[in-house]
Amino acid sequence: MPIAPAASEFNYPRIVDHPWDHSPITVYIDNKSVPPHYSPTYYTQVQKALNYWAEGGNGKLDYTPVFKIVDSEKADIRIRWVEDLQKEQGVPPRVAGDAIPYIVNGRFIRVDITLGVGFSQWGKWVPYSDTAMLAIAKHELGHALGLDHSNDKQDIMYPTNEQINNTNPILSKYGSLLLFAIYAILAIAVFLSVSYILGRVAK
Ligand SMILES: [Zn+2]
Repeated sequence: MPIAPAASEFNYPRIVDHPWDHSPITVYIDNKSVPPHYSPTYYTQVQKALNYWAEGGNGKLDYTPVFKIVDSEKADIRIRWVEDLQKEQGVPPRVAGDAIPYIVNGRFIRVDITLGVGFSQWGKWVPYSDTAMLAIAKHELGHALGLDHSNDKQDIMYPTNEQINNTNPILSKYGSLLLFAIYAILAIAVFLSVSYILGRVAK
């Protein structure tokens, strides 16, 4: 007797089930006009991410994508890196990548993927590790293949995969401590000035 797949298999959130009406899907990776903090190893991570999806990815695609890397900006999927994703794409802080599909009659005609290269924390530049870049590239390519966000934390399409979470955990730990210290100092300052003003009023 065949085992019925879990209900979530049918309900997996998709932007479009079959976004591309042709194969192979052409991909342009812009490693020429790159930002100052770009690492040449990021290109390899994008290649690995393409292989991940070509080999089945997270198992949520209804088709098997075939990619062809081309040296033309007229490609189906265009990937580029920018120094400051917040400034250039207007995304919320800590978002590491975005994918914008152009949809005509229920099909993608083009997808623009923009990837960040790191972020600034307490005045220090924190570059994305190759591991982080691979996760970001996989996630954004998932969108370019029609998948939407999953609410399964283990899934590559879970929204936090767009965010920085594995670059420098020690720094972020101290970061929140520092933030707490700043709030504490502010609270004390406010308390002191209020009591100073109240003290003067009382006099
Ligand atoms: Zn996303």
